[in-house]
Amino acid sequence: MAKIAFYDTKPYDQEWFDELNRKYEIIYLENKLTPVTANLAVGCEAVCAFVNDDIGAKTIDTLHSLGVKLIAMRCSGYNNVDMNAAHGKIHVVRVPAYSPYAVAEHTMALLLTLNRKLHRAYNRTRDFNFSLVGLTGMDLYGKTIGVIGTGKIGRVFIDICRGFGMNVIAYDLFPASNTDIYYVDLETLLKESHIISLHCPLNEKTKHLLDARAFTQMRKGTIILNTSRGALIDTGALLDALNNGKVGGAGLDVYEEESDFFYQDLSGTIIKDDQLALLVSRPNVLLTSHQAFLTDEALANIAETTLLNLDEFFGNNRIINEICYLCESGKVANKCNKEKTGRCF
Ligand code: NAD
Repeated sequence: MAKIAFYDTKPYDQEWFDELNRKYEIIYLENKLTPVTANLAVGCEAVCAFVNDDIGAKTIDTLHSLGVKLIAMRCSGYNNVDMNAAHGKIHVVRVPAYSPYAVAEHTMALLLTLNRKLHRAYNRTRDFNFSLVGLTGMDLYGKTIGVIGTGKIGRVFIDICRGFGMNVIAYDLFPASNTDIYYVDLETLLKESHIISLHCPLNEKTKHLLDARAFTQMRKGTIILNTSRGALIDTGALLDALNNGKVGGAGLDVYEEESDFFYQDLSGTIIKDDQLALLVSRPNVLLTSHQAFLTDEALANIAETTLLNLDEFFGNNRIINEICYLCESGKVANKCNKEKTGRCF
């Protein structure tokens, strides 16, 4: 029975893996995977990791020296893995899709809450404050929303927005073909949208995609939604844009420096991150702790696909959900061996 070190375990992860696992000895660890905690994987053939683990070259070298052969990401994004360092040493698999609906619906929840100020109304009425002053929103019907990234989640989100009668425009580096999506260039999207929602991956090209320059191109009062990755937005520039009114509100499920804070109860501590503290203090910023994926359906799919990925790896089969820096999620087959042998190397 292969041993798997499962990092950054939360009760909701364990519940679904225990329910579905029949074959593996899973060692559940509360620690995040870092260069230091990598040593806890001694005796394990695989590790299972999540969005805020630090899977840089040092971690990979330590895992490799311990004989770990597989990093099973239980998420779709893999920007926290040094893919170049892993290549040829440790295979990397992921869960490419577990519920685009979970993330897209959470994005709409952020927009509705922020626009109609439900977070503030909830607090007021609990205190028997029934005043409506300061709670005015806008009709979403007829407004233009710009969706950046039209893959699985972006696509579902577009359909939800159309259900509200919104005018959807989109930008994608690799636009879909044979589609009803109305694509524009990034500059047009920034200029014309009342609301902008990010659904593209984080990589060198997309880091700080929304920076000071991007914010100056926007309409006054634009609402920003980010349920993808924190570093798509330059937080300092966002705070400036919130201060000068260019941005009228931000619904964020992710934050650039979230790995030091998210998924922990820090209610009894002083937060030593001024940008995070400023964001949280703004009434027109709604921050959730990277929870857009958190539905029963998504958790079940994550566990099922991760166990399937392990089965394919240990069964010496073709590994459908393997990724490497050469194939980059299958877009460019390049020099990756996957098409020939079923594995990236
Ligand atoms: P996907 O791969 O299906 O779609 C991503 C889209 O972005 C693709 O169409 C791609 O062509 C496009 N893209 C790539 N580079 C781009 C660029 N430079 N500019 C514009 N578009 C670009 O991914 P998905 O499943 O839709 O997920 C989107 C993102 O959502 C993931 O990368 C991940 O970071 C994030 N995510 C967050 C959560 C959460 O809980 N908050 C959960 C799952 C995924």
